[in-house]
Amino acid sequence: MASTLLSRRDLDFLLYEWLDIAALTSRARFSEHSRQTFDAVLDLSAEIATKQFATHNKKSDANEPVMRPDGTVELIDEIGHALQVFAEAGLIAAQFDEKLGGLQLPVTLARASMAWFQAANAATSSYVFLSVANANLLVEFGTAEQIDQWVRPMIEGRYFGTMCLSETSAGSSLADITTKAVPQPDGSYRVTGTKMWISGGDHELADNIIHLVLAKIPGGPAGVKGISLIAVPKFLPDDTRNDVALVGLNHKMGNRGTTNTLLNFGDGSFPVGSTSGAVGYLIGEPHVGLSYMFHMMNEARIGVGFLATALGYTGYLKSLEYAKVRRQGRPLDVRDPTSEPAALIEHADVRRMLLAQKSYVEGALALGLYCAKLVDEQQTATDEASASRAGLLLDVLTPVVKSWPSQWCLEANSLAIQVHGGYGYARDYDVEQHYRDNRLNPIHEGTHGIQGLDLLGRKVVIHDGAGLRALLTSIESTVTQATALDDETKGYAQALDKVAATLASTTAALWAADDRAVTLANSSVYLEAAGHIVIAWMWLEQWLAAAGKTGAFYAGKRQATRYFFRYELPKVGPQLDLLASLDRTTLDAEPEGL
Ligand SMILES: Cc1cc2nc3c(=O)[nH]c(=O)nc-3n(C[C@H](O)[C@H](O)[C@H](O)COP(=O)(O)OP(=O)(O)OC[C@H]3O[C@@H](n4cnc5c(N)ncnc54)[C@H](O)[C@@H]3O)c2cc1C
Repeated sequence: MASTLLSRRDLDFLLYEWLDIAALTSRARFSEHSRQTFDAVLDLSAEIATKQFATHNKKSDANEPVMRPDGTVELIDEIGHALQVFAEAGLIAAQFDEKLGGLQLPVTLARASMAWFQAANAATSSYVFLSVANANLLVEFGTAEQIDQWVRPMIEGRYFGTMCLSETSAGSSLADITTKAVPQPDGSYRVTGTKMWISGGDHELADNIIHLVLAKIPGGPAGVKGISLIAVPKFLPDDTRNDVALVGLNHKMGNRGTTNTLLNFGDGSFPVGSTSGAVGYLIGEPHVGLSYMFHMMNEARIGVGFLATALGYTGYLKSLEYAKVRRQGRPLDVRDPTSEPAALIEHADVRRMLLAQKSYVEGALALGLYCAKLVDEQQTATDEASASRAGLLLDVLTPVVKSWPSQWCLEANSLAIQVHGGYGYARDYDVEQHYRDNRLNPIHEGTHGIQGLDLLGRKVVIHDGAGLRALLTSIESTVTQATALDDETKGYAQALDKVAATLASTTAALWAADDRAVTLANSSVYLEAAGHIVIAWMWLEQWLAAAGKTGAFYAGKRQATRYFFRYELPKVGPQLDLLASLDRTTLDAEPEGL
């Protein structure tokens, strides 16, 4: 029976028929691999996700973590067991260098592998997700000793990692963090402060937890330019407990199996050498920690997009199954009340909801894998121009790959509930949990609003607009290819070409306003319009990859492309018109009237 987590057929199409990741094996970094090893990793991922992760998804939702009186955390046993199986299969090591004990697989494949786990169990997979991002940051900016000490055990699954940015009063605005790191004569630091919302912040699932903490070293510049990155292990090299205390667990709407914590650093709960203050170690240079953390956050943002996509995808597949077996009502042209009721999928409006979901989740998966391939290109392209083009494109697409799936694959989950009718609202079915789990994704790793500001305020203007130009050039190349085909394809190509040109002129008009407040007032609308344009591009790419191929799978790709171009892309026109008019409705709204 086909999986209701993800579609392996779709992954094969996207990875091999469209992105041609088998060709990556001709590059030195991946030369030990082949299509066979890639397939084996995908098979193994699907199997472990199905047998070890999906099986406790509902149980961990119903039994959220509890803080025991001694400060330890009670979690259901299945979480630790599943993570152990995952680590023993070598999957944490997927994308890391062989010299660190990694498998040196392409990031594209590692992401596809991880998507199985995210679809099966968002909460349990998050422990790995954070640790991999943490280890990646340390590989990039840590010393050889720090890598040996922390990254190797993380790759083996013995240590886990966190990212500690947020504080109770500083979430979106990290300039306002108050956590301090005071240098010590031996070169270490003592960290004091409170961090809020820290995922995986405490538990007994691993021998150690390496917290990557944003803190200010006294005397440094004000604002984000004075933020440093400090690694604070829960246990110090001599196994002494470090002064990091779990103050409490947050009770969440979804993702309940991931502990989410309020952590006190250095409050004296576990004094080290009889002195309070958590012992920490500076990563890289002082005061530039936020730029290092962005390395982790950018990776995490692509990962959040994948998480949203995977949850949307599994909800879609489950509602598709349901629509085939649930019988209700009769087709509009059948008037005989004694006739057999039709399956839900026979109704055009149910098909609309299925097509919408398909176009969102498969479009989002295509974008996620495309961006992952850009990471591979950036790291392994054989010429500098290709690597730098991939970097530019990745930079401009990062807010989109994080936000678009978080918005529209959440909408897919809402539609999956709708397809189930009343049963979708009940906890007996999976889809209500997928919705709750997915609702986090527009909030963390930079809210939707912050991604809009990042895209319009930074990404499309830095380097004199080179990122936006790289995106428009890539879209243009797909349009040119599509224009050479039949009339239907040409029609979609022209529609995409038109909105892409309007996006360019709207961006220019917004920045010509010479008033930053007006330019950025509707940046979320800009993000949403740009997102729909990018996904239309992803659909035209898939349409081209399916061209001339027959069978239900390819017909499905064409149906979803038609849906996206006819029902979704036209939404962009009014959004761009509003933006180009420099509308001030939101800016001028009186707080008293809200
Ligand atoms: C389940 C969960 C897990 C998390 N995991 C982690 C973690 O592991 N590590 C970590 O460090 N953090 C984590 N976070 C924190 C998360 O990143 C923050 O919640 C997020 O950055 C938003 O910050 P905030 O909650 O303080 O909201 P606020 O910053 O107060 O934002 C509230 C609203 O105001 C808007 N807003 C804020 N500032 C602006 C602005 N300048 N312009 C326009 N709009 C604005 C936001 O878009 C949002 O809609 C997690 C959060 C949750 C809920």
